[in-house]
Amino acid sequence: MKIDVLTLFPEMFEGVFSSSILGKARDKGIVSLGTVNFRDYSTNKHNTVDDYPYGGGGGMVLKPEPIFGAVEDLPPHLTEEGEPVKPRVILLCPQGETFTQKKAEELSGEEHLVFICGHYEGYDERIRQHLVTDELSVGDYVLTGGEIPAMVIIDSVVRLLPGVLGNEMSAVTDSFSTGLLEYPHYTRPAKFRDWEVPEMLLSGHHANVKKWRLKESLIRTLERRPDLLEGRVLSKEEKLWVAEWKKQQQEKEINS
Ligand code: SAM
Repeated sequence: MKIDVLTLFPEMFEGVFSSSILGKARDKGIVSLGTVNFRDYSTNKHNTVDDYPYGGGGGMVLKPEPIFGAVEDLPPHLTEEGEPVKPRVILLCPQGETFTQKKAEELSGEEHLVFICGHYEGYDERIRQHLVTDELSVGDYVLTGGEIPAMVIIDSVVRLLPGVLGNEMSAVTDSFSTGLLEYPHYTRPAKFRDWEVPEMLLSGHHANVKKWRLKESLIRTLERRPDLLEGRVLSKEEKLWVAEWKKQQQEKEINS
């Protein structure tokens, strides 16, 4: 996969792109990560990339020329047959579709991603209309620029690429990948202060541990993110666990 980030602050990506999983994925040649400072594509002698909004009002707006220029000048990513790949051009924007694990999975199937990081008040609308394929938001809050959202999205996409995580299973069981939040984890010691690890995990009985984990995942999702369960078809056993949990909740309410 090739990832290009258009930004006015390429130095922000240096540490992130060379550390941890992203650094390893890059070293293994699974992903190529690059930045382009779109100020280099400014078309005026003062090197500006923003201007006052037509119609007045506060804040500066990113001009179209440097961003179109930088995207159009990116070297194409070629398939094994030498064909240029059409990139997904992603605009980071609080008004965009909220980024989710499902979107990360979808993007991990692409070969070339281009991220455009905004700054200031916003973008000239023609960038949205005529250049980008996706608009993504990392949540309902406003950040200073698109750099941190781009890092969030790139990290979550790259860790899904085959060969990136040491143990392929760890991404498969992550929260959201299964439609549920992940089950609780414990490690040694089996007893820390007065707190013991659930006995089931010490039993060595793999099938029962698997069942315990599924139940814990389901209950944790019910407690914290019931919205994730909407539309999920529950097995007979899962329905029993849910009913048992609801009964316990009612008893707690009565006793409190
Ligand atoms: N005036 C804009 C609005 O109300 O939609 C917000 C501009 S914000 C200060 C500057 C840039 O930060 C945006 O263009 C975008 O690239 C990025 N940004 C801010 N919040 C974001 C979010 N929640 N998700 C993705 N990008 C965001």
